[in-house]
Amino acid sequence: MAQIRDQAVVLSRLDYSETSQVLVLMTREHGKVRAIAKGIRRSTKKRFAVGIDLLEVGTMVATMRDDGTGNLANISEWTQNASLGGLRDELFRLNGALYVAELTTQLTADHDPHPELFDALIAVLNALVEASEPIGPVVWFQFRMLVAIGSLPRFDACVRCENPDDLTHFSSREGGMICRSCVPSTMETRPVTRATIASLQARGPSLSRPGDVPHAGSPEITDTRQPDNVGDAPPDQGRATATAPSSPGGQAPADSPGDPAAGPSPFTGPFRLLDYHISHLMGRQPRLAAKIVPSIRRPSG
Ligand SMILES: [Zn+2]
Repeated sequence: MAQIRDQAVVLSRLDYSETSQVLVLMTREHGKVRAIAKGIRRSTKKRFAVGIDLLEVGTMVATMRDDGTGNLANISEWTQNASLGGLRDELFRLNGALYVAELTTQLTADHDPHPELFDALIAVLNALVEASEPIGPVVWFQFRMLVAIGSLPRFDACVRCENPDDLTHFSSREGGMICRSCVPSTMETRPVTRATIASLQARGPSLSRPGDVPHAGSPEITDTRQPDNVGDAPPDQGRATATAPSSPGGQAPADSPGDPAAGPSPFTGPFRLLDYHISHLMGRQPRLAAKIVPSIRRPSG
């Protein structure tokens, strides 16, 4: 048994008695942890809060069993670090936060540390607190999740023949774009609009910057640093970097390619495609997907 102290976000919460909760938490240094909290000593800025809230961010002290049997960690202390009350001011913000929590729960393994993903989770929750729509921050997080687990699809060329042109479809099984001539011989494909492909390609270079993810706990999620290695990218993509959101609060540029078929937000097409890929990885569609884009089940985009 080892005692740990770590930053944590509550991904899900189950109350099973008046004083006890079973929690799934994403911690910064210890990965995803399942824990029980029984009558804990609690320090909070909110006077009337009882127990530990869903989506709360705090520092926990817990006893972990290191025997690998999957036993619950035991939380002895919880200090709230940030109040994300704004998430509950608007239903779409809460739905966005629950969507990213669901992805984190389903796509990471227990006790597998992903500090960069934890930082991205904190950043997207902070962005959603003040967001006027959930899709931009959520797409930002979808990208970071797929990078963290090594499953980001290829958007710059056909994954089967390397052709960078005439990309018309996406295949989750093949892991990226499929060109028109490869579509007939590919088992699983989904049509993608040119606007969606352009939007996805524009976000690629910004993800290659190691300093792209804002620091955890930082009140400022806007990344004002200059891109430092866009020279690695072709000139046209380097230019796209300047307009792609480099933080979860980033707004779509006004001249962003519109995608009337995909919906009112320029992020709708990218959201649908990344959600489709994530659904394949999870083995089912995320429960909250339809709350982010209500017409998600329509076979378009
Ligand atoms: Zn091809």
